[in-house]
Amino acid sequence: MGLRTPQQYIDSIRDDRTVFYRGEQVADVTTHPIIKKAVHHAALDFEMTEDPEYRELAVVKEGGDEYSRYFKIPASTDDLLKRSQLIEAATALGKTLVVLVKEIGTDALFALHRVSRQVDQKYETDYLRRVQAFYKHCRDNDLALSVAQTDVKGDRSAGPQNQPHPDYYTRIVERRADGIVVRGAKIHTSCTTNVNELIVLPTRAMSEADKDYALAFAIPVNTPGVKLVASPYGGSPKSEFDAPLSADRKMMETITIFDDVFVPWDRVFMAGEHDFAAAIALGFVEYHRFTAVSYKLPLVDALIGSALLMADMNGIAKAAHVRDKMIWLISYAETLRALTEMAAIRGTGDADGIFAPDALTTNMAKYHFAHHYHEALQHVQDIAGGMLVTGPGVEDFANPETGDLLRKYLGGRAGIDGEVRTRAMNMVSDLTTGDFGGYHAVLAIHAEGSLEAEKLMISRAYDSRRTLAYAKKLAGIQE
Ligand SMILES: Cc1cc2nc3c(=O)[nH]c(=O)nc-3n(C[C@H](O)[C@H](O)[C@H](O)COP(=O)(O)OP(=O)(O)OC[C@H]3O[C@@H](n4cnc5c(N)ncnc54)[C@H](O)[C@@H]3O)c2cc1C
Repeated sequence: MGLRTPQQYIDSIRDDRTVFYRGEQVADVTTHPIIKKAVHHAALDFEMTEDPEYRELAVVKEGGDEYSRYFKIPASTDDLLKRSQLIEAATALGKTLVVLVKEIGTDALFALHRVSRQVDQKYETDYLRRVQAFYKHCRDNDLALSVAQTDVKGDRSAGPQNQPHPDYYTRIVERRADGIVVRGAKIHTSCTTNVNELIVLPTRAMSEADKDYALAFAIPVNTPGVKLVASPYGGSPKSEFDAPLSADRKMMETITIFDDVFVPWDRVFMAGEHDFAAAIALGFVEYHRFTAVSYKLPLVDALIGSALLMADMNGIAKAAHVRDKMIWLISYAETLRALTEMAAIRGTGDADGIFAPDALTTNMAKYHFAHHYHEALQHVQDIAGGMLVTGPGVEDFANPETGDLLRKYLGGRAGIDGEVRTRAMNMVSDLTTGDFGGYHAVLAIHAEGSLEAEKLMISRAYDSRRTLAYAKKLAGIQE
């Protein structure tokens, strides 16, 4: 058992994985000009375990052994809160961008632990033993993980069986004595280019007819037949001055194609038990939405800080409409923080004592964040002004003919010159506009499930009996 250094992590992803970027196969993801930014960003998780400031939060000590806290199977509210704090701290170091190379994978592992026991009890399978062995492999080797859950899905109104072709959902095409052969494609898979293992989960409930689609497994990313087509979104070169948040860091998403991939049985965690597909899908999502609301906290803090900074520099901090917008932003962010903590406090354990955050509160937190995100952007952009998208470049400040003129004319209140104000403006611009701001905005609405998925879970998780009984009592209606 051992923690890895950042360099050991980087060395471990130099293998013969099949990655395409803008039509070309990538020979080495750690040196590719764009993907290496994602590698650098992911290395943060490994740097934190070595950093005295974060070590206590980032590392769990059990007996003489140490491992990354991400792998700690939650057994209490305190475990959930510490996990949330670690995710928040890592994202803050990542300049509002979640690191995710252990967060999402452990969300899946916790859910697989909880559901596999139930599957084994009904079908006399031995999935839990396989999940436990895989979990130990990941924890003891400090591995980086991705989760491919979202299928390409084709016609959204139809299930796997009724699609224009049979491969819109990932499926088993052959069962062999030593394992299964899998075909299909998942989309939006984060970090796949630069992790060690890929966990695959079902994305929805499945019927008896969908048995071959009720599928969960894990494989190394360099398994033959796995083809990763990386998205070039946000991949244009940027300077530190123009884009202080995103110039040197990034997450990669891929379309993850399983071109008849062989998976040995000891890595298969569901193969046909369709009546548990929803339990795995939702079990993962509940942990993952808690991860989401935890990693949104530095983002909403950055929005408040940006509004404060620009209001001050623009000399409008005391204006009535600005105070009104600040109060809105503070309430927005602090409601998210309170709900996130409450999701852990209301968390409960299953028969084995594995804790999960409260589903109702987690979904309320995620829905609150996502539903109001664009309004938050509107307030920050309103306070900052149009220079978010019209300012000069770093070269113009360096040019002796224009530099001093820009310092003079682009300044704000007394003491704020044009270069300082442009730096602040560029940070807010990177956060709220352009490809990084746009990435955050779409991430807010879609990642970890769409708004409608969260609403569905709120209505499912809310127990209406208490309030209905109270209304009847108020009305004098006897049961
Ligand atoms: C940046 C980013 C990173 C992500 N990372 C990962 C990852 O690492 N792993 C992973 O597995 N997934 C990941 N996701 C996927 C994310 O969970 C999905 O985007 C989300 O579930 C929505 O799916 P979709 O994008 O296919 O949109 P769609 O499902 O097509 O949604 C579009 C619209 O259609 C509606 N809709 C869909 N189905 C129906 C229906 N049957 N009836 C009525 N309306 C419907 C939705 O409510 C929504 O309004 C990521 C997404 C993003 C944006």
